[in-house]
Amino acid sequence: MDLGISGRVALVTAASKGLGRASAVALAEEGCRVVICARGEEGLADAAQEIGTTGADVLAVVDDVTDPEAPARLVATTVEHFGSVDIVVGNAGGPPPGRALDVPDEALLAAFNANMVTSVRLARAAVPSMRERGWGRICFITSYSVKQPIPTLALSNVARTSLWAWAKTAAADLFADGITVNLAAPGLHDTDRVRALRGGSPAAAAGAGEAIGDPRDFGRVVAFLCSEPAKFVSGVALQVDGAATLGLL
Ligand code: NAP
Repeated sequence: MDLGISGRVALVTAASKGLGRASAVALAEEGCRVVICARGEEGLADAAQEIGTTGADVLAVVDDVTDPEAPARLVATTVEHFGSVDIVVGNAGGPPPGRALDVPDEALLAAFNANMVTSVRLARAAVPSMRERGWGRICFITSYSVKQPIPTLALSNVARTSLWAWAKTAAADLFADGITVNLAAPGLHDTDRVRALRGGSPAAAAGAGEAIGDPRDFGRVVAFLCSEPAKFVSGVALQVDGAATLGLL
């Protein structure tokens, strides 16, 4: 299937590893020009090199997306370099684990900043360029916790459901402008974060009886949500979780 986004300009944040990187690669494979960011220079260069092998133009920018000025700075750099921003994939590192009663104020505020407010800042900064062209795709990488809270990840649960509520509201406001807003909500995927949380080795990433997803497949789902034929898909939180979520909503 032709996703119809060849030549579009995509900004993918937190994209030197894992799900962000896989999304950037998938968009590049569809012919997008891609801007990626992360804090670590080495990982970013490695990701840029992989994206370059698709033949796509890529710009790698070292930045910390949780800095309040970073989202607007990244959008401005994207527009300056490629002339527009058509697709934004908002991603950030996940918050630390913790049960509901064990989360201190500072950790709550940090999670809200990284996994909610940062995404709103990104969308606010990108929408004017999208409106100019009457076309835009905004996709936030969140977690299946927007559908089913994860008992040991209270910070993730509250920050991401808050973003989900914002995205649902924004989707209705932006649809008439040709801009969609969706969430890609991953379940367990084999990334560095998951390996670190679970003891390091690939074998340790999935527990007994647990299914684990391939980040490259996840990236292609993100690319579909950002595609031309997905123009009527907006205000959706799409679980990519191997049927892990049990609720009916
Ligand atoms: P990962 O493998 O640890 O990769 C995280 C990426 O984000 C790295 O490129 C990292 O690079 C970058 N990053 C982290 N903090 C950043 C910041 N402040 N500014 C800019 N870049 C930053 O993580 P992942 O597994 O792909 O997870 C991505 C997101 O999906 C997280 O929010 C995670 O909680 C969520 N999620 C993941 C899973 C899963 O199974 N993998 C499931 C549900 C939800 P630097 O460290 O160099 O900045």
